[in-house]
Amino acid sequence: MTKSLTLTFDNGPFAEVTPQVLRVLEEKEVPATFFMLGERLALPDGRPLAESVSAAGHWLGNHTWSHSTPFGRQPSDEVVEHEIRGTQALIDGLATNRRMFRPKGDGGQLGDHLLSPKARDILLEDGFTMVLWNSIPRDWEKPDDWVETALEQCEAHEWAVMVLHDTPTGAMRHLGRFIDEARDRGIEFTQEISPGCMPITDGRVVAPITQFVGDPGAV
Ligand SMILES: [Zn+2]
Repeated sequence: MTKSLTLTFDNGPFAEVTPQVLRVLEEKEVPATFFMLGERLALPDGRPLAESVSAAGHWLGNHTWSHSTPFGRQPSDEVVEHEIRGTQALIDGLATNRRMFRPKGDGGQLGDHLLSPKARDILLEDGFTMVLWNSIPRDWEKPDDWVETALEQCEAHEWAVMVLHDTPTGAMRHLGRFIDEARDRGIEFTQEISPGCMPITDGRVVAPITQFVGDPGAV
């Protein structure tokens, strides 16, 4: 069976990296999704960068405002609300397919640090799709040495949803080579996201999420 790969780029946008990623994706004809930070969208170059991502046919998602305390450890409902809704206010209006949210993973881990009860409630109320992942080659730790890990992770999944970062580590210099090598191995790129990575879809719980909801207590 052909293996599939969905590329996602988190923690941007950055003027010195995101346009470079867009050029590679255009050249290789790979549509992707960018999970952006509100605090970066609010910078003077944030909106134009987001518009260029959207105009190129990629999808935009919400990756929190500040990428700080994971929500499962964040006791303030007010902070959680600002992190999600404040960011979404900057994304709504840009062409994208649906409201997508990716929680901060804290080094790529999945677990009950991802969401608080308040975060879960907002995602359901506002009709979000929560996009998790099953592949994280840690490009930020090994900017010149992640391609082999990424290829191995593709081989390990029928449909990999991979987290990369359009951040200034230098890792994205190797994006074109990675795409070529994945294609040489018969891996097909898709913009669609594996249903297995979307336990909340369009505001509905479609797979168990209790393992992703912590109890940070109230303040
Ligand atoms: Zn992140």
